[in-house]
Amino acid sequence: MSKFWSDFVQELKPYVPGEQPKDGEYIKLNTNESPFDPSPLAIDAIRQESEENLRLYPDPESDKLREMVGRYYEIPADYVFPGNGSDEVLAHLFYSLFKHQGKKILFPDITYSFYRVYAKLYDINFEAVPLNDQFEIDINDYIRVSADEVCGIIFPNPNAPTGIAVSLEAIEQLLQAQPNIVVAIDEAYVDFGAESAVCLLEKYDNLIVLQTLSKSRSLAGLRVGFALAQPHLLQALVRVKNSFNSYPIDRLAQVGAIAAFEDDAYFEQTRQEIISSREYVSQELSNLGFVVLPSKTNFVFVSHPRVDAAILSAQLRERLVLVRYFDQDRISQYLRITIGTRKQCEILIKTLSEILTSTNIDAE
Ligand SMILES: *Cc1c(COP(=O)(O)O)cnc(C)c1O
Repeated sequence: MSKFWSDFVQELKPYVPGEQPKDGEYIKLNTNESPFDPSPLAIDAIRQESEENLRLYPDPESDKLREMVGRYYEIPADYVFPGNGSDEVLAHLFYSLFKHQGKKILFPDITYSFYRVYAKLYDINFEAVPLNDQFEIDINDYIRVSADEVCGIIFPNPNAPTGIAVSLEAIEQLLQAQPNIVVAIDEAYVDFGAESAVCLLEKYDNLIVLQTLSKSRSLAGLRVGFALAQPHLLQALVRVKNSFNSYPIDRLAQVGAIAAFEDDAYFEQTRQEIISSREYVSQELSNLGFVVLPSKTNFVFVSHPRVDAAILSAQLRERLVLVRYFDQDRISQYLRITIGTRKQCEILIKTLSEILTSTNIDAE
């Protein structure tokens, strides 16, 4: 703190990302990155661009990238709004569509913790809607609210950190019931097995879908994400963006992201490998006595009935395996574990089984 700070900065509680250790000795299963390198086509495109055009500003609207994403999803390019990671897109979404006098937004109590941070940053009223006892989103909780009080609904599908997905049918029910509320579906993990709502964009003018290249396309370091929605919604985000930073996506990111979308074979192969390792890890963890929530993501959310999650996390760390622990109501006995390479998954299982044995807990 300093006397020079603006008043509201003193009240801010910033988002705390998972640890990024400086040395490479850890098996990093704590921030849901891909264990695989990006597509070689993306690396080539970035290398070539870095040799040619870096003295010039990038295209402020990322038109070629928007066209590529549009072709990929079979929607017009003006349905695409890219940003410096989907976190930045979320920030613009909150500011441009969720800030209405006398109204609030809704999101689940257990969800991506950045939503709460953005709501506070922009002074947006919100209500955290509890997940049910199975840690699922009950769509009826959002169907019964009134548009007189609520201007926005946002949740990830699949949800994070639970990993549980809701059906496309449930999302369409919500859109039908709430034509006067903006419904934002954060599909950061959708490529690992959930149903995307992109096919509903044409039909519902209040739907906005967010995606990122950070997880399923192995490009967390490049910082590219995007929103998909009808242009009348996205134009609000464009206004905010152009009042903040005209060039959020640099030249390397624009060409790298395009090339990643062009390399569909690589995308398919790596995402299938994650899905199959997730099934392996889920089965092995159940064998060790863990409760494993049914995941459609590149992580599993697990709890052991007889070993404290904070202690487990610390013991894994001592053995050079990083996982994510949230010291938070309802989930303080859970660990979120990212799916790594098959080899890393095997080490995880072996390490956990050693820890359970050494703490005198019989694996079941
Ligand atoms: C990882 C993640 C994001 C942010 O992704 P970036 O594109 O890297 O900023 C957004 N939402 C959820 C739910 C995530 O898990």
